[in-house]
Amino acid sequence: VIARMSASTTARIPFSVEFYPPRDEAAEERLWRAASVFEQLGAAFVSVTYGAGGSTRDRTLRITRDVANNTALLPIAHLTAVGHTVSELDALVDEYAKAGVHNILALRGDPPGDPLGEWTQHPGGLRYADELVRLIGEKDSFEVGVASFPEGHYRASTLDVDTEVLVTKLRSGAEYSITQMFFDVDDYLRLRDRVVAADPEQGAKPIIPGLMPVTSLRSVRRMLELSGSKLPADFESRLTRAAGSGETEDRAAVREVGIEFATNLCERLIREGAPCLHFNTLNFSRATQEVLANLGMAPEVGAHGGVVLA
Ligand code: FAD
Repeated sequence: VIARMSASTTARIPFSVEFYPPRDEAAEERLWRAASVFEQLGAAFVSVTYGAGGSTRDRTLRITRDVANNTALLPIAHLTAVGHTVSELDALVDEYAKAGVHNILALRGDPPGDPLGEWTQHPGGLRYADELVRLIGEKDSFEVGVASFPEGHYRASTLDVDTEVLVTKLRSGAEYSITQMFFDVDDYLRLRDRVVAADPEQGAKPIIPGLMPVTSLRSVRRMLELSGSKLPADFESRLTRAAGSGETEDRAAVREVGIEFATNLCERLIREGAPCLHFNTLNFSRATQEVLANLGMAPEVGAHGGVVLA
């Protein structure tokens, strides 16, 4: 991941994307179409999420393996400790190595069913993400990343505790972190400052901003309930006005506001020296490509949603 970010040939700074494992064939076709666009646009890496409670275990493995074998993209597999014993996690990590996937985002995960409910450690399993980082680190052939939280993790009592947790994960061997999606660049900058102040050596490791161009007010609100991130009040009221008062929201108007907001957010992140822009794509390429095109980092989206190479 670090090498791909530094070798990136995209104009300005590297970018990367997040996919989720598709549930059916049509969704999978969409994922591969998006992957092909991002391959042509030169994405530094593609991360693939791991369903709550390990529900996508096989699909995450298969998609990352196919990305590794059939595309020029670098896959990162998300892995959570939920519902697994240490020996299951150990075996799963070995399967990734065999599949040619050597990048893992090590996460604790949320309780299955109710993500905001009480977390209980699996008997024989792990308690915190730093333990998973160490378990994977023992294997040698992996580069490990972790999650970070510009607004603080919702279970952390204070931002200082949250920072200590991130520093512990980095000291345990993680090479970088990817943030929870956020909409206020100051939250990202403050996180970066806190990590540098807590431990300058770990503070030198990349904190990759996680971003999402908003294209639907309803779906972003649902995601925010789970992530604990907040929309700045002025952005939320612009989105609400754009959505209108009809029964179904005006998606085109919401999208226009969302893309413009994401473009400005990225512009500021680039100015502030962010190492990479990581987009939550929901397996679509269009909104991300529009933002990249606005930033001068990709050609405009073609008439059929494909890539128009410059
Ligand atoms: P940890 O770093 O272990 O932290 C969990 C909580 O425990 C925090 O409140 C922390 O403050 C506290 N804590 C940690 N260590 C200690 C300690 N030593 N002592 C006391 N308290 C401690 N979830 C999925 O299910 N699948 C995914 O694919 C997925 N991808 C994600 C990608 C990104 C970029 C991000 C930001 C999150 C993702 N998540 C995913 C969600 C993530 O699993 C949850 O946010 C989860 O609640 C926290 O995971 P973590 O790895 O940060 O846990």
